[in-house]
Amino acid sequence: MALDILGASFVREVEPGELVMVGEDGLKSIKPFNKAQRRLCIFEHVYFSRPDSVMDGLGIYEVRKHIGKELARESQVPADVIVPVPDSGVPAAMGYAQQSGLPFELGIIRNHYVGRTFIEPADHIRHLGVRLKHNANRATIEGKRVILVDDSIVRGTTSVKIVAMVRAAGAREVHMRIAAPPTTHSCYYGVDTPERDKLLAARMDLAGMARFIGVDSLAFVSIDGLYRAVGEARRDAADPRFCDACFTGDYPITLDDLEDPEERQLSLLRESA
Ligand code: SF4
Repeated sequence: MALDILGASFVREVEPGELVMVGEDGLKSIKPFNKAQRRLCIFEHVYFSRPDSVMDGLGIYEVRKHIGKELARESQVPADVIVPVPDSGVPAAMGYAQQSGLPFELGIIRNHYVGRTFIEPADHIRHLGVRLKHNANRATIEGKRVILVDDSIVRGTTSVKIVAMVRAAGAREVHMRIAAPPTTHSCYYGVDTPERDKLLAARMDLAGMARFIGVDSLAFVSIDGLYRAVGEARRDAADPRFCDACFTGDYPITLDDLEDPEERQLSLLRESA
Protein backbone atom coordinates (compact mmCIF):
# COMPACT_ATOMS: atom_id res chain seq x y z
CA MET A 1 0.00 0.00 0.00
CA ALA A 2 2.96 2.35 0.50
CA LEU A 3 3.66 1.94 -3.21
CA ASP A 4 -0.04 2.39 -4.15
CA ILE A 5 0.20 5.88 -2.68
CA LEU A 6 3.09 6.65 -5.03
CA GLY A 7 1.06 5.45 -8.02
CA ALA A 8 3.36 2.47 -8.55
CA SER A 9 2.14 -0.63 -10.34
CA PHE A 10 2.72 -4.09 -8.96
CA VAL A 11 5.32 -6.19 -10.75
CA ARG A 12 6.29 -8.79 -8.16
CA GLU A 13 7.30 -9.04 -4.53
CA VAL A 14 10.92 -8.74 -3.45
CA GLU A 15 11.83 -12.23 -2.35
CA PRO A 16 13.27 -13.10 1.04
CA GLY A 17 17.05 -12.72 0.88
CA GLU A 18 16.86 -10.73 -2.35
CA LEU A 19 18.24 -7.24 -2.94
CA VAL A 20 16.64 -5.25 -5.72
CA MET A 21 18.52 -2.15 -6.83
CA VAL A 22 16.94 0.53 -8.97
CA GLY A 23 19.45 2.66 -10.85
CA GLU A 24 19.93 4.60 -14.06
CA ASP A 25 20.42 1.39 -15.95
CA GLY A 26 17.21 -0.19 -14.65
CA LEU A 27 16.56 -2.95 -12.15
CA LYS A 28 19.16 -5.30 -10.82
CA SER A 29 18.44 -8.20 -8.51
CA ILE A 30 20.97 -10.13 -6.47
CA LYS A 31 20.63 -12.91 -3.93
CA PRO A 32 23.79 -12.65 -1.88
CA PHE A 33 22.78 -14.94 0.96
CA ASN A 34 22.73 -18.69 1.33
CA LYS A 35 19.28 -20.07 0.68
CA ALA A 36 17.39 -20.57 3.95
CA GLN A 37 14.04 -22.07 4.82
CA ARG A 38 11.29 -19.54 4.31
CA ARG A 39 9.40 -18.56 7.49
CA LEU A 40 7.41 -15.36 7.07
CA CYS A 41 6.01 -13.79 10.29
CA ILE A 42 2.38 -14.94 10.57
CA PHE A 43 1.65 -12.12 12.99
CA GLU A 44 1.93 -9.76 10.03
CA HIS A 45 -1.37 -11.19 8.82
CA VAL A 46 -3.01 -10.97 12.24
CA TYR A 47 -1.84 -7.59 13.45
CA PHE A 48 0.98 -5.61 11.85
CA SER A 49 0.11 -5.14 8.23
CA ARG A 50 -2.42 -2.64 7.06
CA PRO A 51 -5.58 -4.34 5.78
CA ASP A 52 -5.06 -2.86 2.31
CA SER A 53 -1.67 -4.56 2.03
CA VAL A 54 -0.99 -7.59 -0.11
CA MET A 55 1.69 -9.91 1.16
CA ASP A 56 2.97 -13.09 -0.36
CA GLY A 57 0.05 -12.89 -2.79
CA LEU A 58 -2.53 -12.66 0.02
CA GLY A 59 -4.74 -9.64 0.70
CA ILE A 60 -4.48 -8.91 4.43
CA TYR A 61 -8.11 -7.75 4.67
CA GLU A 62 -9.39 -11.01 3.19
CA VAL A 63 -7.11 -13.09 5.43
CA ARG A 64 -8.44 -11.31 8.51
CA LYS A 65 -12.04 -11.85 7.42
CA HIS A 66 -11.23 -15.52 6.93
CA ILE A 67 -9.78 -15.73 10.42
CA GLY A 68 -13.09 -14.32 11.71
CA LYS A 69 -14.99 -16.97 9.76
CA GLU A 70 -12.78 -19.71 11.19
CA LEU A 71 -13.40 -18.32 14.68
CA ALA A 72 -17.17 -18.39 14.13
CA ARG A 73 -16.98 -22.00 12.91
CA GLU A 74 -14.83 -23.05 15.84
CA SER A 75 -16.43 -21.19 18.73
CA GLN A 76 -19.95 -20.02 17.97
CA VAL A 77 -22.03 -18.97 20.96
CA PRO A 78 -25.63 -17.69 21.09
CA ALA A 79 -25.48 -13.89 20.89
CA ASP A 80 -27.29 -10.83 19.55
CA VAL A 81 -24.51 -8.74 18.08
CA ILE A 82 -20.88 -8.86 16.87
CA VAL A 83 -18.78 -5.90 17.99
CA PRO A 84 -15.18 -5.34 16.86
CA VAL A 85 -12.52 -3.80 19.06
CA PRO A 86 -11.47 -1.02 16.68
CA ASP A 87 -9.64 -0.71 14.49
CA SER A 88 -7.67 -3.91 14.16
CA GLY A 89 -10.53 -6.24 15.13
CA VAL A 90 -12.85 -4.93 12.39
CA PRO A 91 -12.12 -7.29 9.45
CA ALA A 92 -12.20 -10.41 11.67
CA ALA A 93 -15.47 -9.25 13.24
CA MET A 94 -16.95 -8.79 9.75
CA GLY A 95 -15.92 -12.34 8.86
CA TYR A 96 -17.40 -13.62 12.13
CA ALA A 97 -20.67 -11.80 11.44
CA GLN A 98 -20.87 -13.12 7.87
CA GLN A 99 -20.25 -16.69 8.96
CA SER A 100 -22.60 -16.60 11.97
CA GLY A 101 -25.36 -14.53 10.35
CA LEU A 102 -25.40 -12.22 13.39
CA PRO A 103 -25.51 -8.44 12.94
CA PHE A 104 -22.24 -6.48 12.93
CA GLU A 105 -22.37 -3.24 14.90
CA LEU A 106 -19.83 -0.59 15.82
CA GLY A 107 -20.42 -0.96 19.55
CA ILE A 108 -17.10 0.67 20.43
CA ILE A 109 -16.12 3.91 18.79
CA ARG A 110 -12.49 4.79 18.36
CA ASN A 111 -11.53 8.39 19.02
CA HIS A 112 -9.61 9.40 15.92
CA TYR A 113 -8.82 12.86 17.25
CA VAL A 114 -6.77 11.91 20.29
CA GLY A 115 -3.05 11.91 19.68
CA ARG A 116 -3.19 14.56 16.95
CA THR A 117 -0.85 17.39 17.67
CA PHE A 118 -3.53 20.05 17.89
CA ILE A 119 -5.63 18.13 20.35
CA GLU A 120 -3.08 16.42 22.60
CA PRO A 121 -4.76 15.40 25.86
CA ALA A 122 -3.79 17.47 28.87
CA ASP A 123 -1.72 15.69 31.49
CA HIS A 124 -4.59 15.45 33.94
CA ILE A 125 -6.69 13.34 31.53
CA ARG A 126 -3.87 11.30 30.01
CA HIS A 127 -4.34 8.62 32.69
CA LEU A 128 -7.74 7.80 31.20
CA GLY A 129 -5.75 5.63 28.77
CA VAL A 130 -8.10 3.25 26.97
CA ARG A 131 -11.13 5.43 27.70
CA LEU A 132 -9.51 8.29 25.81
CA LYS A 133 -9.14 6.09 22.76
CA HIS A 134 -12.37 4.08 22.87
CA ASN A 135 -15.92 4.67 24.01
CA ALA A 136 -18.87 2.29 24.11
CA ASN A 137 -21.76 3.02 21.79
CA ARG A 138 -24.54 2.28 24.30
CA ALA A 139 -27.34 2.18 21.73
CA THR A 140 -25.91 -0.93 20.04
CA ILE A 141 -24.92 -2.79 23.24
CA GLU A 142 -27.46 -2.21 25.99
CA GLY A 143 -29.38 -5.37 26.97
CA LYS A 144 -27.56 -7.43 24.31
CA ARG A 145 -25.44 -10.58 24.34
CA VAL A 146 -22.28 -9.20 22.78
CA ILE A 147 -19.49 -11.05 20.98
CA LEU A 148 -16.42 -8.83 21.12
CA VAL A 149 -13.82 -9.60 18.43
CA ASP A 150 -10.21 -8.48 18.89
CA ASP A 151 -7.01 -9.31 17.03
CA SER A 152 -4.92 -10.63 19.89
CA ILE A 153 -4.38 -10.63 23.64
CA VAL A 154 -0.90 -9.84 24.87
CA ARG A 155 -0.88 -8.69 28.49
CA GLY A 156 -4.66 -8.54 28.68
CA THR A 157 -4.75 -5.13 30.34
CA THR A 158 -6.53 -3.44 27.43
CA SER A 159 -9.08 -6.25 27.18
CA VAL A 160 -9.98 -5.85 30.88
CA LYS A 161 -10.79 -2.18 30.31
CA ILE A 162 -12.69 -2.73 27.08
CA VAL A 163 -14.84 -5.46 28.63
CA ALA A 164 -15.58 -3.30 31.70
CA MET A 165 -16.61 -0.49 29.34
CA VAL A 166 -18.96 -2.76 27.38
CA ARG A 167 -20.53 -4.10 30.57
CA ALA A 168 -20.94 -0.57 31.93
CA ALA A 169 -22.82 0.27 28.72
CA GLY A 170 -25.40 -2.38 29.65
CA ALA A 171 -24.30 -5.55 27.81
CA ARG A 172 -26.17 -8.58 29.18
CA GLU A 173 -23.37 -11.02 28.28
CA VAL A 174 -19.87 -10.43 26.90
CA HIS A 175 -18.12 -13.16 24.91
CA MET A 176 -14.60 -12.47 23.68
CA ARG A 177 -13.31 -14.01 20.45
CA ILE A 178 -9.68 -13.54 19.47
CA ALA A 179 -8.43 -13.64 15.86
CA ALA A 180 -5.09 -15.22 16.86
CA PRO A 181 -4.11 -18.23 18.92
CA PRO A 182 -2.99 -17.52 22.51
CA THR A 183 0.28 -15.52 22.56
CA THR A 184 2.34 -17.79 24.79
CA HIS A 185 5.89 -16.89 23.76
CA SER A 186 7.93 -13.71 23.25
CA CYS A 187 9.28 -12.68 19.88
CA TYR A 188 13.04 -12.24 19.57
CA TYR A 189 13.10 -11.29 15.91
CA GLY A 190 12.40 -7.60 16.28
CA VAL A 191 8.85 -7.39 17.65
CA ASP A 192 8.46 -5.87 21.06
CA THR A 193 6.36 -8.49 22.81
CA PRO A 194 6.78 -8.42 26.59
CA GLU A 195 8.82 -11.04 28.45
CA ARG A 196 7.09 -14.37 28.68
CA ASP A 197 6.00 -13.98 32.29
CA LYS A 198 3.97 -10.91 31.31
CA LEU A 199 2.04 -12.66 28.54
CA LEU A 200 -1.42 -13.50 29.82
CA ALA A 201 -1.64 -16.79 27.91
CA ALA A 202 1.71 -17.92 29.33
CA ARG A 203 0.48 -17.31 32.87
CA MET A 204 -3.09 -18.64 32.80
CA ASP A 205 -5.26 -21.29 31.23
CA LEU A 206 -8.35 -20.37 29.19
CA ALA A 207 -10.73 -20.30 32.18
CA GLY A 208 -8.27 -18.17 34.18
CA MET A 209 -7.90 -15.71 31.29
CA ALA A 210 -11.70 -15.44 30.91
CA ARG A 211 -12.02 -14.67 34.63
CA PHE A 212 -9.17 -12.13 34.49
CA ILE A 213 -10.68 -10.31 31.51
CA GLY A 214 -14.17 -10.51 32.97
CA VAL A 215 -15.98 -12.24 30.10
CA ASP A 216 -18.69 -14.90 30.05
CA SER A 217 -16.67 -16.92 27.55
CA LEU A 218 -13.34 -16.60 25.75
CA ALA A 219 -12.05 -18.39 22.66
CA PHE A 220 -9.04 -18.01 20.37
CA VAL A 221 -8.79 -19.18 16.78
CA SER A 222 -6.85 -22.45 16.63
CA ILE A 223 -3.42 -22.54 15.03
CA ASP A 224 -4.85 -24.74 12.25
CA GLY A 225 -7.72 -22.27 11.79
CA LEU A 226 -5.17 -19.49 11.37
CA TYR A 227 -3.26 -21.56 8.79
CA ARG A 228 -6.49 -22.29 6.92
CA ALA A 229 -7.14 -18.54 6.76
CA VAL A 230 -3.78 -18.02 5.05
CA GLY A 231 -4.50 -20.77 2.55
CA GLU A 232 -2.86 -23.81 4.16
CA ALA A 233 -4.97 -26.86 4.97
CA ARG A 234 -3.38 -26.99 8.42
CA ARG A 235 -0.08 -26.33 10.13
CA ASP A 236 2.46 -28.81 8.87
CA ALA A 237 4.59 -29.36 11.99
CA ALA A 238 7.46 -30.77 9.93
CA ASP A 239 7.49 -27.84 7.52
CA PRO A 240 5.51 -24.83 8.74
CA ARG A 241 5.33 -22.11 6.09
CA PHE A 242 5.40 -19.27 8.61
CA CYS A 243 7.15 -18.28 11.77
CA ASP A 244 4.45 -18.76 14.42
CA ALA A 245 6.75 -18.95 17.44
CA CYS A 246 4.75 -16.52 19.57
CA PHE A 247 1.86 -19.01 19.40
CA THR A 248 3.75 -22.31 19.31
CA GLY A 249 7.20 -21.73 20.81
CA ASP A 250 8.66 -23.25 17.64
CA TYR A 251 11.43 -20.71 16.96
CA PRO A 252 12.87 -21.06 13.44
CA ILE A 253 16.23 -19.67 14.59
CA THR A 254 17.33 -20.74 18.02
CA LEU A 255 17.76 -17.95 20.51
CA ASP A 256 21.36 -19.00 21.12
CA ASP A 257 22.13 -17.79 17.60
CA LEU A 258 20.90 -14.28 18.39
CA GLU A 259 23.13 -11.85 20.16
CA ASP A 260 21.35 -10.05 23.01
CA PRO A 261 17.81 -10.87 21.80
CA GLU A 262 16.02 -8.52 24.16
CA GLU A 263 18.14 -5.54 23.11
CA ARG A 264 17.13 -6.13 19.51
CA GLN A 265 13.39 -5.70 20.02
CA LEU A 266 11.57 -2.84 18.37
CA SER A 267 8.69 -0.97 19.88
CA LEU A 268 6.03 -2.14 17.44
CA LEU A 269 3.61 -3.95 19.69
CA ARG A 270 2.50 -2.07 22.73
CA GLU A 271 -0.72 -2.35 24.62
CA SER A 272 -1.96 0.84 26.22
CA ALA A 273 -1.43 0.98 29.92
S1 SF4 B 1 7.74 -14.84 16.96
FE1 SF4 B 1 5.70 -14.10 16.35
S2 SF4 B 1 5.91 -11.88 15.98
FE2 SF4 B 1 8.00 -12.79 16.03
S3 SF4 B 1 8.50 -13.21 13.88
FE3 SF4 B 1 7.62 -15.10 14.73
S4 SF4 B 1 5.40 -14.95 14.33
FE4 SF4 B 1 6.27 -12.91 14.02
